[in-house]
Amino acid sequence: PSSRVVASRGGVPTTPHSSTMQRADARDADPARAARWLDEAKASVYTGLLGLLMLSMGITLTVDDFKRVLTKPGIMVLGFVGCSLMTTQRVLARSRQMAAQLKEQATRDPLTGTLNRRAFHQELIAEVGRSQRYGRPLCLAMFDLDHFKQLNDELGHLAGDQALQNFCRLCEQQARRTDIFARFGGEEFVLLMPETDAKQAQLLLERIRQTLAEQQFLYLDQRYQLQVSIGVADLATSGSPDQLLRQADLALYQAKASGRNRVQLWSPPASMAY
Ligand code: GH3
Ligand code: MG
Ligand code: MG
Repeated sequence: PSSRVVASRGGVPTTPHSSTMQRADARDADPARAARWLDEAKASVYTGLLGLLMLSMGITLTVDDFKRVLTKPGIMVLGFVGCSLMTTQRVLARSRQMAAQLKEQATRDPLTGTLNRRAFHQELIAEVGRSQRYGRPLCLAMFDLDHFKQLNDELGHLAGDQALQNFCRLCEQQARRTDIFARFGGEEFVLLMPETDAKQAQLLLERIRQTLAEQQFLYLDQRYQLQVSIGVADLATSGSPDQLLRQADLALYQAKASGRNRVQLWSPPASMAY
């Protein structure tokens, strides 16, 4: 019975006998809890430092001292100020937490937890600027799941939601930590790949496409063969964030038109000089 597994708040299985390390893991998994813990740790350190300072100045207080000073109005005021400072510190910590939560909500897609389109656009502008300034490669991919409406029709919308979440996890696993993945809308996603040329991007995107095509999506006892079409554009043949997006979108359209379940690189018409 000691090996019984229960679900923790974050959904990660853990044993009922939680160790210090597991508590530390739980803190890491919950940023609000971690911030609270940090504030409490800071308060303890400040109290300790104040005690050390008093000791080093030769100030030691006895119980009688406390009894004596507590009757003096000045010390009462000091106590009041101390309490007010502690309350202010707590209010500030709480408002910092709420601001962080609001920022998270404003930039994330609630279904998949990935960046939303607006937040992605800001990242795109910044990365295009950086790549152009330093002459570094940058590629952008646009994904559209194939025949997704049919999945919804056959397996239901909840299954569709689950498939979208699974697809995001797959892309996040395959992409590098510096890549920026986002939900662009509906069953469309984008992946921005800094420090990546068209050849490297195509390799990564082909791996994502193939991994999805080789597995079956399972929902309860139903199955669906999900596939994805991908358009990719290279900053080397583009001039601005919007043009990069437009080219990735055009390449995606070509991927759909030429049979779906494929990666298509945007290439300039022969008449265009770069
Ligand atoms: P194509 O291969 O041409 O891309 O076909 P498609 O069926 O994927 O494209 P279409 O644009 O006809 O349908 C997209 C579908 O995606 C319709 C819409 O209901 C579904 N969809 C968009 N957002 C969500 C969502 O959040 N959850 C679920 N379950 N379905 C969604
Ligand atoms: Mg679509
Ligand atoms: Mg689609």
